[in-house]
Amino acid sequence: MNHAKHSIFQNPASHHPDIQGTSADDERILNFLAEIKAKTEGFLGYPVSKDFNYDCLLEFLKYPLNNLGDPFTASTWKVDTREFEREVIDFMALLFRAKVDNYWGYVTNGGSEGNLYGLYIARELYPRGIVYYSQDTHYSVSKNLHLLNMRNIMIRSQPHGEIDYDDLAETLKIHRGTPAIIFANIGTTMTEAKDDLKKIDAILNDLAISERYIHSDAALCGGIAPFIEPRAPFDFKDGADSISVSGHKFFGSPIPCGILIAKTM
Ligand SMILES: *Cc1c(COP(=O)(O)O)cnc(C)c1O
Repeated sequence: MNHAKHSIFQNPASHHPDIQGTSADDERILNFLAEIKAKTEGFLGYPVSKDFNYDCLLEFLKYPLNNLGDPFTASTWKVDTREFEREVIDFMALLFRAKVDNYWGYVTNGGSEGNLYGLYIARELYPRGIVYYSQDTHYSVSKNLHLLNMRNIMIRSQPHGEIDYDDLAETLKIHRGTPAIIFANIGTTMTEAKDDLKKIDAILNDLAISERYIHSDAALCGGIAPFIEPRAPFDFKDGADSISVSGHKFFGSPIPCGILIAKTM
């Protein structure tokens, strides 16, 4: 295989007999490529990554790959990478200290979808539950809460972005009889502040709230948090019921994707 760099852009019309591009089309695409290049060189990369190279996978863009549905069940669609998808889930479940044979997950279209799925599981388990989340929570979450039609209460943030535990405790106290669904930030998008699952667990225990669900939004930091010492309390061993990670942030996927892993109880 010889992938001359960006060869299809040198003259798209001449490379494929079925594509009769006009020179105006070619020029537009070439200009667009130059613009994207310049824009990428001109920014540091935060909150995504820039230092990746997927040239060796370019061949796969020739095939209608689609991992239909649940990667752990059989599918009639055979042009897929479900074998690798399951490996991704196993790999991340191990990093997130899930119990063997007590997790499920799939590769999503992004961190937002993983958060949506986590909240969806919480709603199925506790239809009457109230979702608690801090002011610094990603803007996609309020849209997801609206889509799922879930009761929710925004909690104050501390100045550095971590949830205000006093405000959380006070608010939970008022709703002690209602199941609590905690949406925890494991790295807010602006300051990487992490809500402490140990502290949240202590608050819930103190108020004797046993009907609870904790989702970790690790969209930004899920790929690095397992390696940082001291390890932030954020994963399954720390009490999370589901965790969502973004694939196009730290990992640097050129195509938006994410990972959702949930306890199977
Ligand atoms: C980026 C981000 C999201 C959304 O993730 P996408 O993969 O872009 O959908 C959610 N939460 C946090 C904290 C984020 O930084």
